Amino acid sequence: MSETVNGSVNGAVNAATMRLLSSEMGIGAHSVSRVTEAVDSLDPVFAVYRETALHNQLKVIAAMQRENISPRHFAPTSGYGYDDAGRDALSRVFARVFGCEDALVRPQFASGTHAIATMLFGLLLPGDEMISATGRPYDTLQTTLNGASPLSFPAQGIAYREIPLDEDGKMDVNALQSAITPKTRIVYFQRSRGYAWREAISLQDMRKAFDVARACKNDIILAVDNCYGEFVNTAEPTELGADVMAGSLIKNPGGGLASTGGYIAGKRELIARIAERMTAPGIGAEVGSYAAGYTPFFQGLFLAPHVVCESLCTASLIARTFETLGYDALPHSDAARSDIVQAIRLGTPERLRAFCRSVQRCAPVDSMAVPEPWDMPGYKNAVIMAAGTFVQGASIELSADGPMIPPYIAYFQGGLTFEHGKLAAMAAIEDIGNL
Ligand SMILES: *Cc1c(COP(=O)(O)O)cnc(C)c1O
Repeated sequence: MSETVNGSVNGAVNAATMRLLSSEMGIGAHSVSRVTEAVDSLDPVFAVYRETALHNQLKVIAAMQRENISPRHFAPTSGYGYDDAGRDALSRVFARVFGCEDALVRPQFASGTHAIATMLFGLLLPGDEMISATGRPYDTLQTTLNGASPLSFPAQGIAYREIPLDEDGKMDVNALQSAITPKTRIVYFQRSRGYAWREAISLQDMRKAFDVARACKNDIILAVDNCYGEFVNTAEPTELGADVMAGSLIKNPGGGLASTGGYIAGKRELIARIAERMTAPGIGAEVGSYAAGYTPFFQGLFLAPHVVCESLCTASLIARTFETLGYDALPHSDAARSDIVQAIRLGTPERLRAFCRSVQRCAPVDSMAVPEPWDMPGYKNAVIMAAGTFVQGASIELSADGPMIPPYIAYFQGGLTFEHGKLAAMAAIEDIGNL
């Protein structure tokens, strides 16, 4: 038996590892014990995440097998990309995994916001109305929905309303029901908490709201921002009644390997229409090439169920470690999850700064950078961010940020490997120490 720094069994580290933690990372035995004890206590929680990962891994492999994925699908293409077999097969694989008819999976989507805006502008016309059932959507969509741009909803004559979430962060289904009118074309749902101290929307609650909205108006379109939600549960919104959904490939479904891109998935006729917005009317999904080839997108999707599991284990571990020190974590370390985001209320600016710096100093990339709060465009308050990622801004890689305002909440997500997550938890405990 190897020496251990404490009495724990599974999470304990041996003496050689302890020496490395101390010499390379400046982490002491006390911080290591706190984290290894938390790891041991979370076994039943991790078991749930692993079961979900197994289910989703099977879904992905089955989809790839049914589409007869072979090396020809990885080949680079150029120019218009007519008959780009890799591009089309990738979309069909995503559609199968998400239990829907069709998808657009493209490196040409510059971000999740781009995919979401393409989905909405592909479906809405002047005179139509969209209602958000989950309160105020994510910051990066605000200009589209409410802003001064000549291409925003108000300037285009598209009506837009929000149904605020109730005090418990739940959807107000009665208010949604009475808000829907004959003009309402889309009811919009954001699954993830984004950067708010609230729970993500559970798939059960989403399904109930889908049913209510559908009963009000049969041809209504149920559209979901699925960012941060993919593979967290064994089903996706499109399997539970959503007509269309969108997300980012530098989050969950890219598995850490996709270097850019987004997806839109859903009903065939809606996807065909959105494809005409993505390229041009009459062109649709028939064009689009990728000279770098599609290997990272297929391989990233293959890894995604496991990587999401690693990031969920990391989230629960850091939550549990801080809970045992008396901090509030949302969600709780053992709560059912619907996204990969974890929030911890740190209470002071010093601790928030220290937390982000701990995440940064454990990163494989840019570990020498020291996060400082700054006034980011589009945000009211100064924000501090830690991101030492291979793919710029990829938040399926371990990353953290928070606005520099009380109660000084750190939001973090991602973690390609649980080992990296453990290391960050140890560093955070070490660095926050007596702050
Ligand atoms: C990440 C995210 C988006 C899209 O953001 P991008 O930075 O444009 O990819 C939208 N909604 C939510 C909830 C997100 O987490």
